[in-house]
Amino acid sequence: MNNLIEESLKKLNQTNIDNPELDLRILLKHASKKNNEIILSNLNIDNIDIVKFKSYLQKRINRQPIAKIINNKSFWKNDFYVNNFVLDPRPETELIIEEVLNIYKNKNLKLKILDIGTGSGCIAISLAKEFKNASITAIDISKEAIEVAETNLKIHNCSNQIQLKIIDFKNINSKFDLIVSNPPYLTNDQFKNTDPEVKNFEPKLALVGGDDGLKFYREYSNNIKYLMNKSAYFVCEIGINQRQDCEQIFQNSGLYLNKIVKDLQGIERILSFSKI
Ligand code: GLN
Repeated sequence: MNNLIEESLKKLNQTNIDNPELDLRILLKHASKKNNEIILSNLNIDNIDIVKFKSYLQKRINRQPIAKIINNKSFWKNDFYVNNFVLDPRPETELIIEEVLNIYKNKNLKLKILDIGTGSGCIAISLAKEFKNASITAIDISKEAIEVAETNLKIHNCSNQIQLKIIDFKNINSKFDLIVSNPPYLTNDQFKNTDPEVKNFEPKLALVGGDDGLKFYREYSNNIKYLMNKSAYFVCEIGINQRQDCEQIFQNSGLYLNKIVKDLQGIERILSFSKI
C-alpha cells in the first residue's frame, strides 16, 4: 500500500472517524485529476492533486463532515449542494418523501405544498421532481440557507415550480394541500453531546428546538391548521422519543395523527397528520 494511504488511514483512525477507508476514498476521488475510480490498494498517486488532498484530509481530521468538504450530499434521487449554513440532508428525512408518495398515489395532482425550514431545499426539490404539477412554497428564516436552496433550484431546474421566501411560517397566510417540515428538534443537552461533525459544522439554528426540543412543534400547532386546506396533510420529522409529546401537541390543536413511520433504526421518525 502506498505510504500516503497508510499515513492518512492512520490519522483518520486516530481521530475516531467511523469509516476511514470510505472517507479516504471519497476525499481521494475529489482530489483526483482524472475522474477515475479510486482503489486504495492500487492507487496511482500521479492522478491525485496532493495539495488538495492534504487540505481535504486535514479538514476531515478536524471532524468536518465529508459532505461539507466536498459540498455535496445525495438525498432521495438527486445530489445537492451543501455548505455550513444548512443541514446535510439525512437518510431518515427521505422518509418524508416516501410518506408523501404513500398519501398521494396520483403524481399528476396539482398539489399546493409548503415546506417550512427548507434549508438546502432537498425536500422541496425532491417533491417537485416527483409531482411535476405541484407548486411549492419553500421558506426559511435563514437568508444564507435560502441562498443554498436557490443554488440547488438552479442545479435541478426547479425554479418554475418552487418559490423561495425568507419568512417565518407565522407570516404565511395562504392555504396548502400539503405541509412538510424537518424542524430543529434537538434538545439543548442533545446538541451539547452531539458529534463534532454536527456541533461544529452544521447550523445550530437548524438543529435545536429549545430545552425540550419541542419548541417548533408547539409553534406549528398554534397556526398550522389555518394553513391547511380541508383535506390537507402535514408530514413532519421528529426527534428520538418525541412521538408521544408531538401527538399530544397536535391533537390538542385539532389535528389527527394518521401515521407514524419508523426509520431504519426503528426510531419513530415521521408523523403524518390531517384535519379530518
Ligand atoms: N437528525 C438531526 C441530528 O440528529 C437533527 C435534525 C433536526 O434537528 N431536524 O443531528
